[in-house]
Amino acid sequence: MLWVSSIFTAYSQQQKPNVIVIVVDDAGYADFGCYGGKEIPTPNINQIAKNGTLFTDAYVTASVCAPSRAAMLTGLYQQRFGFEHNTSSKPSPGYKLSDVGIAKNVPTIGNQMKANGYRTIAIGKWHQGDTEPYFPMNRGFDEFYGFIGGHRNFFAYDKVPSREAMLFNNREIVPESQVTYLTDMFTDKASDFIAKNKSNPFFMYLAYNAVHTPMNAKKSSMQQFAHLPEGRRAYAAMMVALDEGIGKVIQTLKDQQLYDNTLIFLINDNGAATNNSADNGKLRGLKGSKWEGGIRVAFLMQWPGKVPAGNVYHNMVSSLDILPTAVAASNGKFVEKFVPDGKNLVPFIDRNNRKKPHEALFWRRGVAAAVRKDKWKIIKAGDNPLLLFDLNKDTSETNNLALKNPKKVKELLRDLQQWEQKMDKPHWFSDYGDSNQLMKHRMEVVGREMERKYP
Ligand code: CA
Repeated sequence: MLWVSSIFTAYSQQQKPNVIVIVVDDAGYADFGCYGGKEIPTPNINQIAKNGTLFTDAYVTASVCAPSRAAMLTGLYQQRFGFEHNTSSKPSPGYKLSDVGIAKNVPTIGNQMKANGYRTIAIGKWHQGDTEPYFPMNRGFDEFYGFIGGHRNFFAYDKVPSREAMLFNNREIVPESQVTYLTDMFTDKASDFIAKNKSNPFFMYLAYNAVHTPMNAKKSSMQQFAHLPEGRRAYAAMMVALDEGIGKVIQTLKDQQLYDNTLIFLINDNGAATNNSADNGKLRGLKGSKWEGGIRVAFLMQWPGKVPAGNVYHNMVSSLDILPTAVAASNGKFVEKFVPDGKNLVPFIDRNNRKKPHEALFWRRGVAAAVRKDKWKIIKAGDNPLLLFDLNKDTSETNNLALKNPKKVKELLRDLQQWEQKMDKPHWFSDYGDSNQLMKHRMEVVGREMERKYP
């Protein structure tokens, strides 16, 4: 009866959905067609929104890459394990350089999905620690294809790059002579992996480094944007390559008949950067800030038959929700004793469910912190005047209501304090000082040109 049990195994394995988390780097909230962007065509990304749910009020937990990704990858506020800042060479007192990364006792989404029977791969940018113990294959991923640092050229380097910028295929270094265009290489790897794993459940963390600097675009995709200013032209061309890549990954799912049984997330890791000509539209502020332009991001979810199609969801959600949603979809359990900060979103986005996944969300990076609770948001940056906004009436954060509503300020400050008591101190410091953070969170620093002075 061996054949019966093997057919049964194949059948039951097929029932577990594949899960793909697509991460976009430093894009603007308003640069996706499905979020109202008109300048750059993103048909494949728009299609995910059309076939799934678009979140208008989705937040990441940090407005810079590494801490934001640490929370996506763990389902925990990254401050719980001291990952408050981008990875740096400045450990805090009591910590060493070898402590910089996702703390070793914290399971990743790779660990969680692997424990539930999934083949796991991380593709693209890692940025979760530069030393070996923090590399993806030591943190829950069976395979890795990408680079360890926070950025690298999209084209080949002329000489051997730093270790953080090198391209790895699992533990092997890919020679620069084989590098074509990074976005395409990550797409091709993703497609290969899908085809090879069509008969077993897989989890893919597909972290494109587009559209982070350097602004390396293919000449062929630049031509259609000749009418745009130079920086914006390269940005648009990089977005197009990204969108085409996502289209190819989805086509591969269809070709392998896995499309209906795959849960796809798409999330941007932080808002438009100061240096990549991205556009946050009506949202104030940029990458690095607690303004909405730093932390509110594009977030889509598609899972045919399970996630409502053509749905727009307005309650606030978080990148923290990815891990618990993925684990719930896998029909699995969390690894022992694990309690996530996020929620499984599937029951909440059901059109008949009025409950909200989060009462409040919190942010802190060095001297600047923020809380959003329902429509209210405070920003607290050192000794700067406190800021309070009503995001329902004032999404662009232009009208500070703190003096008019001291009771609400007090309430949100108390919530922040209670949250902070549950968090750890940073295990390392930022390479930037505090002065930029203080300046960029002042009401009088307004307008893209002014904001870009404080990266
Ligand atoms: Ca980023």
